[in-house]
Amino acid sequence: MNKATRKAVIAGNWKMNMTPSQTKEAVEKTAALVKDKNGCDIVLCVPFVDIGTAAAAAKGTNIRIGAQNVHFAESGAYTGEISAAMLLEAGAEYVIIGHSERRQYFGETDKTVNQRTKAALAAGLKVILCVGEVLEERQSNITDEILSMQTKLDLAGVSKEDMQNVIIAYEPVWAIGTGLTATPQQADAACGCIRSVLTQLYDEKTAESVTIQYGGSMNDGNAAELLAMYHVDGGLIGGASLVPEKFDAIVTAAQ
Ligand code: PEP
Repeated sequence: MNKATRKAVIAGNWKMNMTPSQTKEAVEKTAALVKDKNGCDIVLCVPFVDIGTAAAAAKGTNIRIGAQNVHFAESGAYTGEISAAMLLEAGAEYVIIGHSERRQYFGETDKTVNQRTKAALAAGLKVILCVGEVLEERQSNITDEILSMQTKLDLAGVSKEDMQNVIIAYEPVWAIGTGLTATPQQADAACGCIRSVLTQLYDEKTAESVTIQYGGSMNDGNAAELLAMYHVDGGLIGGASLVPEKFDAIVTAAQ
């Protein structure tokens, strides 16, 4: 398998935006725009309380719904947390795990990212696993080491078979929500580094089959050149996913 056969995945990360009523309107508008664009998988990862509304609005369309986090326990005394079974029943098929905002503001570690990943896969969710370096790490020329370490720790105990349900999002932390974007060459090199770690962990066939997205201020103006790179199989999009026309332009660039 190679870029020609890996399906691109364009996923929106709404973060903490949109009430249920706003969700209905935004999903319906996005669905009308991306209708018939079947050259990539399209996912919207919405706040927990919006999942049911989003899933109902996306029913019968080519949009799939995801969540932005999941707890690793099946149930229990974990106030404020949400289990994989709850997400599935509410209508989510995907879940983002290890987003840098969770690592930065909510104490998420590679250990809990790994626990969440295994729980989500065991329950039948598809995982969008985020890894990426901070600016100081890039400036110190240790990006590859950081990506390798995160990928290995976050995927510890995840089987080769389970990798068919894992998407990796390379998200340089310095590019998220900042308007700064990695160059296509930087994005390709980092996604290629992650792919070579997957070859070490699994085998070349598995590594070549995994979708690796770029995320970090991807927008309607820069998506085409980023998505043209060999190792970049799609995008995880924050800000631009909140504007249906901009998200649609990125989906169009991925066709
Ligand atoms: C993100 O939240 O994963 C992201 C990439 O955000 P933005 O596109 O706004 O940089």
